[in-house]
Amino acid sequence: MKIQLLLIGIVLFVGCQQKNKQWEGQAPLEKVNTRTRPIQYQFKKTYKVGNDIYVSNNFDGARMNGVALTGENEVTVVITPENTPINESPWYAFKIWSETVKQIQLKITYNEGVGHRYYPKISTDGKSWNDVDSTMYLSDTASVAKNESPKFCCVNLSLGPDTLWLAAQELIVSKDIDQWTSNLAEKTFITKTAIGQSTEGRPIPALAIGNPRSKKRIMVLSRQHPPEVTGWLAMKAFVERISEDDELCKKYRDEYLIYVVPCANPDGVDNGHWRHGAGGVDLNRDWEDFNQPETQTIRKFMQNKVAEGGKFYFFIDFHSTYHDIYYTIAPELNGNMPGLVPKVITAMGNDIPDYHPNVKPNSVDVERINSTVSVFYEFGAEAVTYEVGDNTPRDVIKLKGELTAKNLMKIMLAEE
Ligand SMILES: [Zn+2]
Repeated sequence: MKIQLLLIGIVLFVGCQQKNKQWEGQAPLEKVNTRTRPIQYQFKKTYKVGNDIYVSNNFDGARMNGVALTGENEVTVVITPENTPINESPWYAFKIWSETVKQIQLKITYNEGVGHRYYPKISTDGKSWNDVDSTMYLSDTASVAKNESPKFCCVNLSLGPDTLWLAAQELIVSKDIDQWTSNLAEKTFITKTAIGQSTEGRPIPALAIGNPRSKKRIMVLSRQHPPEVTGWLAMKAFVERISEDDELCKKYRDEYLIYVVPCANPDGVDNGHWRHGAGGVDLNRDWEDFNQPETQTIRKFMQNKVAEGGKFYFFIDFHSTYHDIYYTIAPELNGNMPGLVPKVITAMGNDIPDYHPNVKPNSVDVERINSTVSVFYEFGAEAVTYEVGDNTPRDVIKLKGELTAKNLMKIMLAEE
C-alpha cells in the first residue's frame, strides 16, 4: 500500500513538474564574478569548403567557428561560444553558396555538451527571414528519443551562386538598430542619442520620447543578451506603439519622458555572442558590482536623470527564453507607483482571449544582480523583466508588445 501511494506521489510530482516546465523559467539568481574575462574571437573570412561550396562568417552578427566538407554533398559547421561557462543559447549565423547548382545536407553542430536550441531561419538577403521548410529539416532524433537535448540539426539545401543566409534568429545587429532609431527620430517628439560606449567602443544608442521637461520618466532596455531577438521585437512593438499619434499616446508623452536603450550589448550582438559582452561576462549579472562599461553607462545615465530632478516610475527589460514569462518584483514591495506591474499584466490577460500570463515574482531576498531587481532597489521604478519565447509567433510578439504599451499608458495616466 505504501509503495502504491509513493508511486502515485511520484506520478503526480512528475506530472506537476512537466506541467510547470511550460514556464518554469530560470533558477534563482546566483551572484557570479563579473570582472572582465577573455573571449575567443572568430576567424572571420570566406571559407572555401571544397566541391565548389563557400561558407562565410564575415559579417556583423555572424557566428560560425569551423566548417568542413564531411561527405560528397555534406557540409558540417561547428558553433562554439565566446567563452565558458555560459548559458545554453548557441547562436549561429553564416552565409553559404556554391559555384555550381547542387543539393547538400548542412549539419549544424556545437561543442561537446551543448544542445541545439534555435530552429534555423533562412534568408536570401539577410533582411527578410523565414523558418527553414520543415520538410527540409532533420533533428537529432536519437538524442531526443533518449530524452536528451538534440546535439545537432540538419538542413537540406539547394545551393547555387546566389547567397543563402542561415541564422538562429532574424539577424538584427547594431546597424539595423541604428537605422530603426534614426527612422523613429524623424518624429518631432523623439530624439536619438548615444549614452556611452561599449568595451569595444561601439556607441550604446538611446532614444528619448515625449516631453523633455517632464520629471516623470520610464526606462526601456533590450539586448543585454545578444541572441534574444524575440525580446527585441517585443521592445520594438512596445516603443512604436508609444510613438503613435492617437490621443492616448499624445497624452502619455505629454506627461512622461520615455528613455529607450534598445541595444545594451552592441559588442555581443555584432560579434555573434551566445550571451556575454566583450568583457566576457553576462551583463545581466553585473547590476550590483558594475564591473562592465555597458552596465556602468546605463546606471550613470539613470543616476544623472535623477540628479536633475527626474523620477523613474517604470522599468522594463526585454529578454527571450523558451516561453513568454514576466519576472516581477516581490509583490509585497512597493516602488514609486505601487501595483503598476501587476495591473498591466492583469490587463494583458483580459485583452487577449484565453491568455493566462506566466508570472514569476522574485523573492524579497533575491540577489540584486540583474537589471530589474537593481533598478527597483536603486531608483524605485516598478520593474519587470519581459521574457519572450524563442518560437513565439512574430505577430503574437508584436500584438503583445503593443498591448503592453497601451495598457501601461492607460494605467499610468489613471494613477495620477
Ligand atoms: Zn536574457
